[in-house]
Amino acid sequence: MSDKTKAMKEELFYSKKSVYEVRGESEIKAAYDFADGYAKFLDSSKTEREAVKAGIEILIAHGFSEYHLGDSVAAGDKRYYNNRGKSLIAFVIGSEPLENGIRISAAHVDSPRIDLKQHSLYEDTGFGYLKTHYYGGIRKYQWATIPLALHGTIVKKNGESVDVKIGDEPGDPVFCITDLLPHLSKDQSGKPLDSAFSGEGLNVLVGSRPYSTEDDPYKTNDPDERVKLAVMKYLNDKYGVTENDLISSELCVVPADKTRDIGFDRAMLGGYGHDDRVCSYPILMATAEAENPEKTVMCIFADKEEIGSEGNTGMQSSNLTDVISEISKCLGADETLVRLHSLCLSADVAAGHDPLYADVFERMNSAMCGCGVTLVKFTGSRGKGGSNDASAETVYKVRKIFDDAGVVWQTAELGKVDQGGGGTVAMYISKENIDTIDLGVPVLSMHAPFEIISKVDLYEAYLAHKAFNK
Ligand code: MN
Ligand code: MN
Repeated sequence: MSDKTKAMKEELFYSKKSVYEVRGESEIKAAYDFADGYAKFLDSSKTEREAVKAGIEILIAHGFSEYHLGDSVAAGDKRYYNNRGKSLIAFVIGSEPLENGIRISAAHVDSPRIDLKQHSLYEDTGFGYLKTHYYGGIRKYQWATIPLALHGTIVKKNGESVDVKIGDEPGDPVFCITDLLPHLSKDQSGKPLDSAFSGEGLNVLVGSRPYSTEDDPYKTNDPDERVKLAVMKYLNDKYGVTENDLISSELCVVPADKTRDIGFDRAMLGGYGHDDRVCSYPILMATAEAENPEKTVMCIFADKEEIGSEGNTGMQSSNLTDVISEISKCLGADETLVRLHSLCLSADVAAGHDPLYADVFERMNSAMCGCGVTLVKFTGSRGKGGSNDASAETVYKVRKIFDDAGVVWQTAELGKVDQGGGGTVAMYISKENIDTIDLGVPVLSMHAPFEIISKVDLYEAYLAHKAFNK
């Protein structure tokens, strides 16, 4: 091929670039440093409540103060709206009129996990167990034989609320769902993957020592729920709760342990809940660091995305429009025009192309780990069902912002057509007449107890949101 033809090819063809090709050593170092901060956030945010709490701490450290619906606001104000401790909206009022639109970034802070049932604790043949009801799309087999932690909140009879967090600190005990030994798994191994484990079978082992005292020693022929009693006594001593109190609780079984670097080069991060903290953290930091922006900028930590964005803490609720409506009123803006002129990045993870499972991906339209933050025009399944399909004009607006700022980005869809699919909060925001498009970080093993992302993609996401908020 002649040089001239080569040059023409370069000019006319799209070529996906690796972040490592585009960025220099110091920028890659900055990405690794940013990932350290993210890892701390991830470790302190295993549930939506914890993510909201960790988010508020970061916002306060950046000069934000709490906002209540109806409060007055003025240009330059940095505020956060805490919705029931489970979702969060932070914003910085810009110098331009609000009717020029808000730059919104929305991520979710709930992750697939295993919740406890309201009647949970029981004893069987010398073991204490917790009965569970899984939350979100999990592959059940992945949750057996790994160390598990218990996180959540119990509201006691007297109205006092106690937070539970066991299994993550050195010295903490952990919990576990057992599995069969291969020697006896003939029947189970013959079943399809999705039916080999049942929802009702995901019971968590939490104890095995029967309650006893010197006055009332344990006798093998008199077991009578003494293991359950010992567990309940522990919970009562530690948290002052009875079994009745567990009815008004939200307790979640999540993977124990901390985020870890992956690989000899430490280029990736493995941890629980990258979906979607890996987008939550960059939108939070980009908003927290916004100083006197021209346009008002806003970021959202939504709950309940993994079960359809339902309820008053999910993205289908009126929370976002309530906040927009209240600040519009206060600033004398027409909220209809505010929404019409706003632009939203629905920040959720992309399915990273995994060469070990290349069959399910269509390579040309796959999110490659290490090739930057991923713009997703549409999600959905089959014929784009359940999708927010962003317009070409919206794609252009965002493309221009990223290109002008030199962000390394790519574009992708979830996987092969008809292989499956999914969606996120974008469609609920665009329904409010707000131009919305998905943007996220590619993840390997999405929804597994231990998910993997590339540090440089995380950093490009942060740079993308910084540029978006400028
Ligand atoms: Mn997600
Ligand atoms: Mn998800």
